[in-house]
Amino acid sequence: MVHSKVVIIGSGPGAHTAAVYLSRAELQPVLYEGMLANGTAAGGQLTTTTDVENFPGFPAGIGGQELMENMRKQSERFGTEIITETISKLDLSSKPFKMWTEWNDAPGSEPARTADAVIIATGANARRLDLPGEEKFWQNGISACAVCDGAVPIFRNKPLYVIGGGDSAAEEAMFLAKYGSSVTVLVRKDKLRASNIMAERLLAHPKCIVRFNTVATEVIGDSKPNGLMSHLRVKSTVDGKEEIVEANGLFYAVGHDPASALVKGQIETDDEGYIVTKPGTSYTSLEGVFACGDVQDKRYRQAITSAGSGCIAALDTEKYLSELHEVPEPAKEKI
Ligand code: FAD
Ligand code: NDP
Repeated sequence: MVHSKVVIIGSGPGAHTAAVYLSRAELQPVLYEGMLANGTAAGGQLTTTTDVENFPGFPAGIGGQELMENMRKQSERFGTEIITETISKLDLSSKPFKMWTEWNDAPGSEPARTADAVIIATGANARRLDLPGEEKFWQNGISACAVCDGAVPIFRNKPLYVIGGGDSAAEEAMFLAKYGSSVTVLVRKDKLRASNIMAERLLAHPKCIVRFNTVATEVIGDSKPNGLMSHLRVKSTVDGKEEIVEANGLFYAVGHDPASALVKGQIETDDEGYIVTKPGTSYTSLEGVFACGDVQDKRYRQAITSAGSGCIAALDTEKYLSELHEVPEPAKEKI
């Protein structure tokens, strides 16, 4: 069993930003990047996308995979120890905190590592619907992030669809209205879940149409490799009637699942499972445990906001560790 001052769990922009700051502060952070943790490659959500055009510093954009490889290299450059394993169990009930990897977490087994401080940066996953055609047209018309992908040329002046009835669906539809010829929001019930103000704005928007009691049942398009989606089969939840509509973009806004199972019941999470942090900080409900990135952010969910919160987590951790390891007064006198 090995002890570290600080362990970072996760490998997205939040985790790597925290690692860069902590390693430059010479706190020798250890980062568990995961081995297909929650079904996503080490590097996190951006490894599943093509061009990232809204991360500052890359005027021509940068591939998601390349951006994350760069972040990983920068973490390593300053001495972060990166371990390609998934943390499967975390015991926060006493200090130092204990953690196990998925290769060795049988009951009674020794923890892989202990740590004075832990940063949870495990991210979140956009929910998918597993519609027929979804796999084929994912990123070829289908996206789970309008802010990330909406400005792509394939969506310009084309009929676009959003699925969901919450604030995200409302916000994404109005954002997409800048690009598409029209944006139709499919809502499975007869009402929106979105807050009143967002619902009112959406319903009043001249380019947005809300279709209540309607679900999508199939994505249709060009069958060639990398062919784009062109139509959607939709179905009424009232009478079961189906129709095929022209649709060049489909954006899911059916919620995200934060990867917080590791800490469930050990630190405070909200009713959707997001880790609760003290506003403006990375402090969780437990001293010594910090959180950054999408696992604690259901509002912005962007690479740059995750990176920013990773910086906050590193600085909060640094302060915590310096107080923890402060030499007590009598001992100082002896020195
Ligand atoms: P995540 O990226 O969510 O990564 C966390 C990773 O940590 C996990 O994926 C996994 O690999 C690892 N992990 C999880 N659990 C464990 C564990 N127990 N042990 C070890 N490792 C673990 N944002 C933008 O700003 N611009 C864009 O253009 C953009 N495009 C996107 C396109 C797509 C398709 C998606 C899905 C998202 C996109 N986003 C974009 C959003 C952006 O990717 C996220 O906001 C950001 O990646 C969140 O970063 P994070 O640090 O929270 O970690
Ligand atoms: P929500 O969970 O609020 O909404 C998800 C929506 O997706 C619901 O309308 C739900 O329908 C629908 N849905 C779920 N599964 C399916 C499915 N299988 N088929 C069709 N529809 C489905 O998630 P959001 O991401 O919208 O919001 C998350 C949180 O973030 C909320 O607290 C929200 O207020 C907040 N937020 C705030 C914003 C703002 O203030 N501007 C912007 C974005 C998010 P149903 O209603 O029938 O369950």
